[in-house]
Amino acid sequence: MTKDLRVLVVEDEKELADVIVSYFEREGYLVDQAFDGPSAVSLARLSPPDLIILDVMLPGFDGIEVCRQVRTFSDAYILMLTARDEEIDKVVGFAVGADDYVVKPFSPRELIARAKAILRRPRQQMLEQDALIFDGQLHFDSTTLDPTSRTVMVGSKSVDLTRTEFDLLEIMMESPKNVFSRRALLEAVWGGEWYGEIHVVDVHVGHLRKKLSDAGASLGLIRTIRGVGYGMELK
Ligand code: CA
Repeated sequence: MTKDLRVLVVEDEKELADVIVSYFEREGYLVDQAFDGPSAVSLARLSPPDLIILDVMLPGFDGIEVCRQVRTFSDAYILMLTARDEEIDKVVGFAVGADDYVVKPFSPRELIARAKAILRRPRQQMLEQDALIFDGQLHFDSTTLDPTSRTVMVGSKSVDLTRTEFDLLEIMMESPKNVFSRRALLEAVWGGEWYGEIHVVDVHVGHLRKKLSDAGASLGLIRTIRGVGYGMELK
């Protein structure tokens, strides 16, 4: 079951990193390794992990910054390794989106157990909890989307959307805390069968924004994340 799961281990203490890597490999996981912040982020892009074991204190930039950046393009589970109390406060107190943390020193056995527990959590369900759903409809600000009748209302005004515009809005409203890359939106809407210009997404989002704001939705309802893509504007 763990066969195809990929784990990215980010820890700059070589000996500890090697121990963690060998434990995960022994359990049948595919393991990648990074020793500093910047390479952790690029490796997570290059070879998307299911789980990231992420040390807080790292060269380059720290694990918290890694977490923040990775969250803009990935929903991998993140388990942080913390050394000191103030690090724990940071990891727990801020909302960069780590799923759990383990305090150093820990036994590799404990780390594996925590990792397995995280990987058993249904990610999809977590995302749904973030969306505001009642009466089977998605709600965001004054905008209501009904997936069954495929209708969108801003306040009491109905908005006439194309199939593509509707699909884009639905994906973003389902996971309003997520940031979606253009590639992710293309794959979700066109089913990965799109080989053309990736910025076609911008055109559809542009139309979608205009229709929503013409109907009275706030202008910033869908935000642009520079260099990444789009997401809902969080208040
Ligand atoms: Ca460290």
